[in-house]
Amino acid sequence: MTTDRPTTRNPFARVTLLLALVLLVMAIVHWRDNGWASLVWLAMFVVTFAIRARYVLRSRTNIVVASRSHLKEKILLAVMFLTIMMLPLLQLATQAFSFADYQLPDWAIWIGVVSQLPFLWLFWRSHADLDRNWSPSLEVRRNHELVTTGIYAWMRHPMYAAIWIAALTQPLLIHNWIAGVLVIPACAALWFLRVPSEEAMMRETFGAAYDDYARRVGRLLPRPGH
Ligand code: SAH
Repeated sequence: MTTDRPTTRNPFARVTLLLALVLLVMAIVHWRDNGWASLVWLAMFVVTFAIRARYVLRSRTNIVVASRSHLKEKILLAVMFLTIMMLPLLQLATQAFSFADYQLPDWAIWIGVVSQLPFLWLFWRSHADLDRNWSPSLEVRRNHELVTTGIYAWMRHPMYAAIWIAALTQPLLIHNWIAGVLVIPACAALWFLRVPSEEAMMRETFGAAYDDYARRVGRLLPRPGH
C-alpha cells in the first residue's frame, strides 16, 4: 500500500506516555513491595525508553511510502505494548495482580539481571545501525536504505533478538504470572506473525539485494562460511 504521508503524531501516545510516567514514579516509590529485582527492570525501562526516544523523534520527519500496518500488525503492537510495558508498570505501581505472584531463587534473579547487558547492547546497536530506517510498525520510508552493516551483518533481526531477551528475562525480574510471564507468548506471536510480513515487505522493496542479504545472514545467527 502506498501512502506517501509524513508520520503523524498520535494523541493516544501522549496520554499513555503520561500514564506510564505516573506509574513509573509510583513503582519507584513502592520498590520495597516488589523487591530489588523490580528496580533493575525499572532501570532497564528508563534506559530503553531513552534509547528509543531519539529514534522516534528522528523518524517523525520521514515520509512513509509503503505501509503494512494492518489490523494484525496493530493488534500485535498493542499486545506487546501491554505485556512488555503497561502490565509490569501497573503491577509494580499498584500490586493489582499480586494474587498471581510467585517466588524465585536468587540465582534465577541474577540470570535475569546479567541478561540485561546483551539485551541493552543489542537494543542500542540495532537502533543506531538502522537509524532513520527504523520505524515502530512495518513501514518503508522515502529514501529507505537496506542496512546490511554493523550488527545487521551478523543477524537480520537484532532488535527482535533484543526483545526476545527482554521478554524471556522479564519473568526473572517481575515475579508475577500476568505482569512477568505473559510477554513471552506475546513476543512469540510478534516473531511468528510479524517477521514473515516484514521480510516480504523488504523483498518487495529491495528485491534481489534482500534475497542476497538473507542468503548471507541468518534471522538471529550469522551463517558461517558466507
Ligand atoms: N527486524 C529488524 C528491524 C525491526 S524495526 C530487527 O529486528 O532488527 C522494523 C522496521 O525496520 C521495518 O519497518 C523495516 O522497514 C525496517 N527494517 C528491517 N530490517 C531492515 C534492514 N535490514 N534495513 C533497513 N530497514 C530495515
